[in-house]
Amino acid sequence: MPATHPLPEPRKQGGPQAALIKLGLGRDIDLALHLPLRYEDETRIVKLRDARDGDMAQIEATVTACDIAYRPRRQLVVTVDDGSDTCVLRFFSFYPSQQKALAVGTRVRVRGELKGGFLGWQMIHPSFKPAAGELATALTPVYSASASLPQAYLRKAVLASLVRADLSDTFPPGVTQALKPTVWGLREALAFLHQPPPDVALATLEDRNHPAWQRLKAEELLAQQLSQLQSKRGREVLRAPALAAMPRGLHEQLLAALPFDLTGAQRHVGEEIARDLGRRIPMHRLLQGDVGSGKTVVAALAAAIAIDAGWQGALMAPTEILAEQHFRKLIGWLEPLFAPSGLRVAWLTGSQKKKERSQMLVLVASGEAALVVGTHAVIQEQVQFKKLGLAIIDEQHRFGVAQRLALRAKMHEAGHEPHLLMMSATPIPRTLAMSYYADLDVSTIDELPPGRTPVVTKLIADGRRDEVTERIKAQVGQGRQVYWVCPLIEESEALDLTNATATHEALSAALPGVTVGLLHSRMPVQEKKAVMSLFTGGRMGVLVSTTVIEVGVDVPNASLMVIEHAERFGLSQLHQLRGRVGRGAAASACILLYSAGEAGRLGETARARLKAMAQTADGFEIARRDLEIRGPGEFLGARQSGAPLLRFADLATDSLLLEWARELAPRMLDRHASLAQKHIGRWLGGKSEYLKA
Ligand code: ADP
Ligand code: MG
Repeated sequence: MPATHPLPEPRKQGGPQAALIKLGLGRDIDLALHLPLRYEDETRIVKLRDARDGDMAQIEATVTACDIAYRPRRQLVVTVDDGSDTCVLRFFSFYPSQQKALAVGTRVRVRGELKGGFLGWQMIHPSFKPAAGELATALTPVYSASASLPQAYLRKAVLASLVRADLSDTFPPGVTQALKPTVWGLREALAFLHQPPPDVALATLEDRNHPAWQRLKAEELLAQQLSQLQSKRGREVLRAPALAAMPRGLHEQLLAALPFDLTGAQRHVGEEIARDLGRRIPMHRLLQGDVGSGKTVVAALAAAIAIDAGWQGALMAPTEILAEQHFRKLIGWLEPLFAPSGLRVAWLTGSQKKKERSQMLVLVASGEAALVVGTHAVIQEQVQFKKLGLAIIDEQHRFGVAQRLALRAKMHEAGHEPHLLMMSATPIPRTLAMSYYADLDVSTIDELPPGRTPVVTKLIADGRRDEVTERIKAQVGQGRQVYWVCPLIEESEALDLTNATATHEALSAALPGVTVGLLHSRMPVQEKKAVMSLFTGGRMGVLVSTTVIEVGVDVPNASLMVIEHAERFGLSQLHQLRGRVGRGAAASACILLYSAGEAGRLGETARARLKAMAQTADGFEIARRDLEIRGPGEFLGARQSGAPLLRFADLATDSLLLEWARELAPRMLDRHASLAQKHIGRWLGGKSEYLKA
């Protein structure tokens, strides 16, 4: 290519400094808090005679042979002798320079894992250097490194950071006395963990009960509690409209018009929400309740209070199908009651026609729309509320951090803060609620509406599909409806589709006279809606779908749920899917079809999930097991993407430290405000923004 246009000067990118910043290790303090993954002991030379099979050992020996062998594959084979025994070193990839450095007669210091065996000691790909120089005086830390961030560079950078960083104590005096074992100061703890003295046993370092470890965990948990409490207090000085239900107003009318009585749990959480709405402090509440526990009506009642008080409500759902279902339900409940006032329920979604959309936007801006229901289209820029008083997010964990931040920004536009109600069918286990969600108030619906029969869950091997088809026939014969969910194949949407299409064809053929529908995420929205409305209207016996129906769909007449390749689904997801049935009075069942795969057996976690599903229908128990199986990082999923997860503390074992931090945080914010700020800044730096999402 002719160089007529000189290329712009390449910007210096990459390199270890950039890699550090990318990993969030840009500040000295971040590096100081970047603890080793493990340690290597280079302080000692081991005699082969004294070594045990499997030891990570450092030996010092003389090379007695160095040859390239070609069988079974090309390799450098080096024999060394340390006077007590010999050891063979094997290198499958090597440079000529390394071969030279291992010339016969050279004295080398070699580190690696010792394997004993019929032919004597061996090490595969050990590290080695000339046997000169002092032995290390401390255990050698090993950090998680990468090609762009070499171990040696990281070690140096961490050591330098320990000297430069401000490691002064941020704990107020006397606060650690209640902790056992006693915790160390931060500076000594970090020095110890980065550069352990040679006499320390490796086991002590790996044991996270060591006082040095305790200190770091206490620090981390305290930072988490402080920042969440701070964001909570920050919210509490903001002003929201005080929303009170009017006597004989919409709230009462809606209650009276409902075709059922609220459960005790629904009444209880409704009161909690109403109390929050009546205050000038913006509500920040999570409403959790198992699938089918009736959260929607609680949300509608909250919206009715806002509307009563002359404000607007917004309800945002993660998928179009779910949003539409809410829309229909809410229109049905509310618009008859609006009749005299001319208020409306508006509908906003991405797939909407331009004309309809602009009509809706006018309704929203004029305040004629008392309630706006939709997908994340509700928080887009063009949407201007007249008086937004209450925002409700359904299935909040399905929204990304960015979307939740956008909602917050939108809410601020109004110049006041609306109340915020988040809903989730995935209950948060207590320890997580206390740590990651400490800034939330939580209401729990712990009771299902009466008349539900528990869903019977069966595990059936994929080879017995015919039996399943028979069951479907029986259900449809009784006028019931059936969901058939096809697996999520993460790598390929196209494969998802093939699978669902094939199942759809097979079922259509096996069930003559039954309407079998197909629903998948690639279908145009209008088509999806058409299929859903046939199913909700009872004019479709079987609905084959990919996981698009996962959240919130409510068809009480559906009594059988078949989940194909159930072993591929996550536990919470399975539970949510199962929650689509058992919503009416009919006895319902959920069949988990599994296939053992090529190895002929299920993986361990897949088995644990299916077992949990068969054993319990309790959402809280499911969530607890899910947390156990997946760990908090995965469990929290979207909410915490980019957010600081706990690195050192383990909620399962450090609940005492968590309690300690929870108790200390408010006192510290009150009485040692500057220490508290320093502590938050040290641990969270710029990351605390995410905690507000
Ligand atoms: P979820 O909590 O999973 O969002 P929904 O709000 O969709 O549950 O409610 C599930 C079904 O239960 C709906 O059909 C709803 O109308 C019905 N329902 C809600 N509350 C009650 C109640 N107290 N008694 C009877 N049915 C109820
Ligand atoms: Mg719901």
